Amino acid sequence: MNYGELLDSSGQVGSNRVRDASLPRRRFLRTTGIVVGGGVGLFSLAGSVGGSLGGAAVTSMAGTAGPGDACAVPSPARALDRLLRGNARWVAGELRHPHQSVERREAQAAGQCPLATVVTCIDSRVSPEVLFDAGIGDLFVVRTAAHVLDDIATGSVEYGPHELGTPLILVLGHGRCGAVTAAVEAIRDRSKLPGHLQTIVEAVRPAYESACRPEPTRDCVDRTIHAHTRRTVGELRRDPLLASSVEKGRLRIVGGYYALDTGRVSLLRGQ
Ligand SMILES: [Zn+2]
Repeated sequence: MNYGELLDSSGQVGSNRVRDASLPRRRFLRTTGIVVGGGVGLFSLAGSVGGSLGGAAVTSMAGTAGPGDACAVPSPARALDRLLRGNARWVAGELRHPHQSVERREAQAAGQCPLATVVTCIDSRVSPEVLFDAGIGDLFVVRTAAHVLDDIATGSVEYGPHELGTPLILVLGHGRCGAVTAAVEAIRDRSKLPGHLQTIVEAVRPAYESACRPEPTRDCVDRTIHAHTRRTVGELRRDPLLASSVEKGRLRIVGGYYALDTGRVSLLRGQ
């Protein structure tokens, strides 16, 4: 079975696959998770990728053997479409639970090439594999409170696009975020949270300042959540390791908002 077919739970299968002569080295990288310098992963991949932001073509880093040997990378637009279609199933209560079988587990044991990296909050109600109706090998997931990124978390976000050609990063804020709410309250009260929690407050503060100053509004928390998500998207787009891929259309970075009540993911406007 081709990995492109495995990735696409909708049944749509891409075409225009290309063969990658440097497969053995890349397969090794995927399997071991070893990070190498000098852009070996993404830049060697670049020569074989023909997908673009607006294109529908599915490109491949390898041939047509099993997922451990073959790895189809969708275009950024197609990766985003797959996520949103999975979310539509979640909203409608029509889950397919793709890629959660023993066969999938065994097929992915030899290697991985997820279609997206999701950067979101630790909130127990915001589980990316569930709300995008995805499974094993589909997503890289980086989660911190209020999706605050420090150096380690940013490196974790860089890993997929840089080493494996992951075509999409989705930064996902969510409604009633406890971390953002606590940060907003601490800022308003001029109080300091204990332990390392104050670090989260300081990371959210710029979004609060832009969204709620000079007069705090009634929906200040939600406005701060949106502003913070936009700021995170901006920071990642300016990330030196990601920026060139974004510029060339190999990588798309978008922000979204998850509504707890409906389950719907909405992309932020103006992206
Ligand atoms: Zn949250």
